[in-house]
Amino acid sequence: MELAQRIDRIAESPTMAMAAEAERYKSRGVDVVDFSVGEPDFPTPEHIKRGAIHALEQNLTKYTAAGGIMPLRQAICDWHRAQLGTNYEAKECVVSVGGKHAIFNAVSVLVNSGDEVLIPSPCWVSFPDIVKYAGGKPVALQTLASENFALRASAVEAAITPRTRMVIVNSPSNPTGAVVPDEEFARILDVCQRRGVWLLSDECYSHFLYDGARPFSIGSVPVENKDKLIVIGSFSKTFAMTGWRLGYALAPELLVKAMIKLQSQSTSNPTSIAQYAGLEAMRGSMDTVAVMLAEYARRRARVMAGLRAIPGVVCSEPAGAFYAFPNVSGAARQGGAIPAAANEKGNAAGVAKGGVAQDLLERVHVAVVPGEAFGAPGHLRISYATSMDRIDEGLRRLAQFFSAAAAA
Ligand code: GLU
Repeated sequence: MELAQRIDRIAESPTMAMAAEAERYKSRGVDVVDFSVGEPDFPTPEHIKRGAIHALEQNLTKYTAAGGIMPLRQAICDWHRAQLGTNYEAKECVVSVGGKHAIFNAVSVLVNSGDEVLIPSPCWVSFPDIVKYAGGKPVALQTLASENFALRASAVEAAITPRTRMVIVNSPSNPTGAVVPDEEFARILDVCQRRGVWLLSDECYSHFLYDGARPFSIGSVPVENKDKLIVIGSFSKTFAMTGWRLGYALAPELLVKAMIKLQSQSTSNPTSIAQYAGLEAMRGSMDTVAVMLAEYARRRARVMAGLRAIPGVVCSEPAGAFYAFPNVSGAARQGGAIPAAANEKGNAAGVAKGGVAQDLLERVHVAVVPGEAFGAPGHLRISYATSMDRIDEGLRRLAQFFSAAAAA
């Protein structure tokens, strides 16, 4: 079948592909330890669910404005101000069908064919493909495991060319858990503003920072620095609402208008009852977030100890989010199980089907996402948003796999 050329520019999301692969094993009755997709294992908090139930009972089940109901746009701005010290008005907020959708729309309305978009690497799987779909050219800015994947303003500045249209920063980072220090982040914004480049800040893990660090939004900088800044947020992680599909962008009004225009011709509004649930999330208690964070911190400690106990595995400690991103090439190499390189297109299905990640799933039934998917061969991404029991079992199987590899 001949499809439009643009769809051949991208691959299926490797995180989604690996989660689906794990599901296939589970449906055959295999006991899979699933460290693949990044999704809180906690239920959506009760008060949020009640918001949706109430909306159903009130028959709030019709179309809404394409960019979201005004009370939610306002509530997002209020919550953001209280939580993160920002200063946005409702007209500078658009509600979307998840954070990914907000990123897709922002890139779609800003990036022209051939424009370069600078993406620190390793990076979340969808950033490069969203840029490619828009006709842009993703340009990787390498960060190093030996420096805990630190991103520096000087490196961003050096990588900007006359073709650069946008820089994407994701702090805390999926997949590395690296966090850009507040002052460095402000310097990156400053570089972007000086060079006339948009900064898209994906802050969907903003509330999952360890060791007492305080959530930070680059949107909290003084107003004169915000005319080329897009802040993306998501309900998925903060409120354990992945399936509801609810996210947002905070950006200059003209950009928000363009994103709403695109939504009006594509998805229309995010699901009405999800929006009313989101309203409760914005107005309700943040206690559930603190509970989740405390539990993630316990799990992080367990995962780090377990991984570091495996000979040849090297892993930076994540400062945020809920992923560990170990380099296993030393461990795998001892047994000759060299990670497969990404195929030519960096194709997701190819990535998911080769190398250590596939061996892990087949041999010891542990699902992880291969590092190739994030631009970092030799690594594996382990989502520890799963119970401590499953983490212990998964670590046991990983140790078994790599010691068998070493003995082979
Ligand atoms: N962001 C999560 C992950 O990386 C969810 C899946 C996705 O959208 O990629 O696993």
